[in-house]
Amino acid sequence: MLYADLIVTNANIETVTQGRADAMAVRDGKILAVGRTEELLKLAAPKTQIEDLQGKTVLPAFIDAHMHLITAGLRETGFHLDLSECSSLEEALERIRSRIQATEQDRWVIARGWVETLWPERRYLLRQDLDRVAPHHPVVAIRVDGHLLAVNSRALQKLTVTPRPDEFDEAQGLLREETAWALLQQLQPSDEQLQEAVLAAARLAHRLGVTAIHDIVKPAHIRAYAALHQKKRLPLRVYFNPEVKYLESFIEAGLRTGFGDDVLKLGAIKFFADGSIGARNAALYEPYQDADTTGQLNYEQNELNRLVKRAHDHGFQIMIHAIGDRAIDAALEALAHAGASAERRHRIEHAELVTPEQLQRMRELGIIASMQPNFVQWSGPGLYYEPRLGRERDSRICPHREVLAAGVRIAFGSDGMPFGPLHGIHWAVNAPHAAQRLSVTEAIRLYTLGAAYASFEEDVAGSLEPGKRADFIVLSHDPTNNTKTINEIRVERTYLAGEKL
Ligand SMILES: [Zn+2]
Repeated sequence: MLYADLIVTNANIETVTQGRADAMAVRDGKILAVGRTEELLKLAAPKTQIEDLQGKTVLPAFIDAHMHLITAGLRETGFHLDLSECSSLEEALERIRSRIQATEQDRWVIARGWVETLWPERRYLLRQDLDRVAPHHPVVAIRVDGHLLAVNSRALQKLTVTPRPDEFDEAQGLLREETAWALLQQLQPSDEQLQEAVLAAARLAHRLGVTAIHDIVKPAHIRAYAALHQKKRLPLRVYFNPEVKYLESFIEAGLRTGFGDDVLKLGAIKFFADGSIGARNAALYEPYQDADTTGQLNYEQNELNRLVKRAHDHGFQIMIHAIGDRAIDAALEALAHAGASAERRHRIEHAELVTPEQLQRMRELGIIASMQPNFVQWSGPGLYYEPRLGRERDSRICPHREVLAAGVRIAFGSDGMPFGPLHGIHWAVNAPHAAQRLSVTEAIRLYTLGAAYASFEEDVAGSLEPGKRADFIVLSHDPTNNTKTINEIRVERTYLAGEKL
C-alpha cells in the first residue's frame, strides 16, 4: 500500500474534470487519490501530514498562458519604478522625486508606464519636468508603449548612444524608436538583477495562485531561469516562448518545442502579426472609429508564411500575436500554409477581433485561441475599445463564448495586465457583452486545463486527478457562490508539487 505524504480533508475541491470532492491525497509531488475524507484517511501513515481545510475551496493552481514575468519582476524589485497608475503628470513626478530620495547620487532611475492621455495635463513628460525633481540623478521615464521616453539633463550627459536626429529632441529630452531602444539596451539589468526579478515575480505568482506560466522571453531571461533552475531555486514552472528573431539559434542548437523538464521547458516561437488597438496599429479590415487608418501588418504575407513554415518544419509550436481581424487572417494563412493540424497545437495570441469565419478555420486547423479575459474590463461604452472601434465591434471584442461555441479551444492568460487569474475570471464571468461571458466553472477550466493543453501538458496538469502534479490552491471563498465579487477572493495557500509555498 502506498501511503500519502499529505492529505487535505473536509475541503470543497473543484477537480475541473470530475466534479467536486472533499479530500485529496498527495505523494511524491503528485496526486495519489481524490475522493471522500473518511476513505482517503486510510492512506495516512504516522508521518502523513493531514490538513483539515474546514470547507475551504480548493482549485488546481492556475496556469497563466500568456505572461511577461520579468517585466512584473523588475517592477516588484524596484528596478523599474511603475508610473502606470499615476493619474497626473504631477503625481508621476512626485513618485520619481520620492524614488530619487532613496537612490544614491548618480545611479539611474528607470521609470516606466506613464500614459499622458490619462492625465489632466494631456502632455508628455519632458526634460524640464524631470530636472525639477532630479537635478543630480540620471532619470529615464518610458512611456507605456515603450516607443517614446523622456530623459533629464543628467541622463543626457551620460548618454553613450548616438541619437538619430529624427528620433531625438534634445530640448525636450525626448527619444523615440531605435534611439530609445539603444538607450534602454545600455540600461539592461544584470544577470543577478534578472534572477532577483524572477524570484520576486514568483512570490507574486504564488500570492495570486499561479504555479505555472507561459512566458514570452529573450535569451537573457532564459539565462536567468536556467541559472535558478540549475540551483534548484526556480519555484515556478516556466514554459518559455522565444521571439522569432532567435529562431535560427534554436534550430542550430537542435532544440524544439518540449525540450526541458517539468519545471523549465521550451515552448513555442512567438511572432507579432500586428500591434495593439490602443496604439491604433492592430490590423483591421475597417478603419478605426477615431482615426483614418486600418492599422498595419508587421510582415508581408510571403515573409510571414516563410518564417512560420520554417519554425513549423523544425518542430516548433507557433504562437502568433494577432489582435485585429486582418492580422488574424494573415496568421491563419501562414499557419495553414505551414501545414497546421490539431496535433501541433499552434496558437493565436489575443485574437481580440476574431470573426465567425475565422473561428471555423481555427477549428479546422486545430488552432488554440490564447485569450486574456481581463481585457474585457476595457470593453463597454466610453472605455478603451469602444471609442477606437465603435459600438458594434466593441460588442464582439474578446468573444470567449463564441469561441467555445465554435469548438475552438481557449487557453487563458493575463498578459500581465494585470497579472492575476482571479481578476481575469471575474471579468469573464461579469463581462459587459453576452458574447464574452462565461460561467465560473468554464473560466476556471480555461485558466487551468485549457492552459495546460496549450503547452501539451493536459495529461499531467490542469485538473486534480490521480497521477497529476499536486499543484493546487486554497481560496478564501468559493467563486461559484458570489460571482459578483470574484476579484475580492484571496488565495490563502498555494502548493507546488505538494509543497506549501
Ligand atoms: Zn504579451
